[in-house]
Parts: sequence; C-alpha cells; structure tokens
Amino acid sequence: MLKDLTPLLTKKFEEIRIDEYPDIKSTDRGGDEIVFIEPVHLFGRLYRIEDDVVFFSGTLEGSLKTACHRCLEPVEEEFCYDFDEVVYAPGKEDDYDLIAEPEGESIDLDEFVLNLFQLNLPAGFLCDEDCKGLCPVCGTNLNTSQCSCNDEIIDQRFAMLKDLFKEQ
Ligand SMILES: [Zn+2]
Ligand SMILES: [Zn+2]
Repeated sequence: MLKDLTPLLTKKFEEIRIDEYPDIKSTDRGGDEIVFIEPVHLFGRLYRIEDDVVFFSGTLEGSLKTACHRCLEPVEEEFCYDFDEVVYAPGKEDDYDLIAEPEGESIDLDEFVLNLFQLNLPAGFLCDEDCKGLCPVCGTNLNTSQCSCNDEIIDQRFAMLKDLFKEQ
C-alpha cells in the first residue's frame, strides 16, 4: 500500500492522517511463522520536520498467533507499538535511520509495518512465563507430562561422582 507524500512535500498540507489496515497476513522471525489473526491497524500522522524530511508518529496494533519459543505450542498475543520514525529524507539517509526505503515520493506502508514489527518483537513469545519447555533429550512437553531423562542424567552424574571417590 503506497502512501503519496507529495501533498506534504509541496506544503499543500501540514500533515497527513493515517488510519489504515495494511493487507499483511503473516511474517516470520528466525523461521517461526507469525500469523496476524486480524488485520493490523496502523494509525498516526505524517508531517514535515524540515522542508523535505517527513516524520511518522503513530501506533501499530493487532493480534498474532505463533509458536511458544520453548514448547512450540500455539500462542496468541495482542501487541501495540508506539513509534516515531523518519520515513523520507532524500540525500540525508546517513543522518536518519530509515526503516523502509521510500519509492519516489511515496512510502510503502506494508514494508514500513513489517520492518517496524520486526524491530519491536520481543526476544521470544511464551505460552506462559513459567513454560517448562520441551525435554532436550526426548522432546516431551514438560508442561503436560513428565519423562525420566532428567533423572537418568542425575543418576549418571552421581555415578561419575562415586567413581571419582573410588579413585582417590
Ligand atoms: Zn510454552
Ligand atoms: Zn525427556
């Protein structure tokens, strides 16, 4: 979805209000798919901070579904990110960190949203703060069942310790 900045750059308007639902269904992070359950909502305003530098202040909100970082069970979460970003600064790209490349005198709101979303992602989504994850040995989901891998590891360590004492 392209947003034309010409009305700002020609100073026809002081600002452009944005209230859009870009058509973005999913993205991914490190191979984990993130699906947007409902259309993401992007709203805020575009305005000039210098003659040809355009700023975008706004909010991105929505809800997503992905896999728990530890146990891989489905997780649903709402998100709401406030942002202040320079979106257009021809010839001044070194002064400003643009998160999406402008196309002529327009910005691509889809690309902007996807990059902004990635920048705001937490380290990992969890089904629960106390999620016990999967057993690294047998893959059992430790939230719902138990396995005896951990016991065996402890037994092995104990056996090694006993051997050490024997040697002395
Ligand atoms: Zn989990
Ligand atoms: Zn196990």
